[in-house]
This record gives sequence, C-alpha cells and structure tokens, in this order.
Amino acid sequence: MPNFKCADIGMKCGFAINNALSQEEVLQEAQVHARLAHGMSTIPPDVAAKVSAAIH
Ligand SMILES: [Zn+2]
Repeated sequence: MPNFKCADIGMKCGFAINNALSQEEVLQEAQVHARLAHGMSTIPPDVAAKVSAAIH
C-alpha cells in the first residue's frame, strides 16, 4: 500500500498518508494537504516529482 510522509520531501511537517488505495490517491491527498497546510494553490512540477519519488 502506498505511503507518503511530508517529511520525506523535506517539509518540517508531521503529515503522513498511510495505506492509500493507489498512488493517484496519495497524490490527490497530498495536493489537498499542500493547499491547506502549505498554502500551495497548485503543486509545482518539481514538488510533484518529489512527492511521486517519495511514495513507497
Ligand atoms: Zn505537510
């Protein structure tokens, strides 16, 4: 199951997604989190690439 931690991409943040159903779900949840918690209205491509690489 895909897991992702905000800390994995260098954020000082305790947010984590555990046992998502798919990588797409992780990316969607990460996008919502980035908007609400980090003030990113859209995720820049370099950050999206880091997120994808950090999903495991
Ligand atoms: Zn975060």
